[in-house]
Amino acid sequence: MQSVETLMRLFRQKGLKVTPQRRLIFELLAGDGSHPTAEETYRRVRAVMPEVSRATVYNTLRELIALGELAPVANLSEGGVRYDTNTAHHHHLFCVKCHALIDVDRDFEGIELSPEEAAGYRLVNYQVTFYGYCPDCRTD
Ligand SMILES: [Zn+2]
Ligand SMILES: [Zn+2]
Repeated sequence: MQSVETLMRLFRQKGLKVTPQRRLIFELLAGDGSHPTAEETYRRVRAVMPEVSRATVYNTLRELIALGELAPVANLSEGGVRYDTNTAHHHHLFCVKCHALIDVDRDFEGIELSPEEAAGYRLVNYQVTFYGYCPDCRTD
């Protein structure tokens, strides 16, 4: 995800209004590596601007995805889709207890499917998720 100023310029170029609410959403998301859900994002925005509507937050997230600035992550927990501000190719570590999700920046070379396994799909991407207990949750 690019800087707040760049996002504001991108939105204006697309003819989208840059309201104070939108600016706040950009500010909260920029540099947020926690992979928040839409609902978490809404709560964080509302804590600062109580009058913000859920629709504004959800629409802004959708627009950020359309612009390639935000990427949905595979659904890992009941909380709904998590959003990734890191749109570069990367992988994840997921805590099965507290659902913390952090990035793993490493190339897993050699992960390939045979033509039979690919079942006719033209592959465009893959993502590896490691599951475990984070330092706060592990008890061993
Ligand atoms: Zn944890
Ligand atoms: Zn990520």
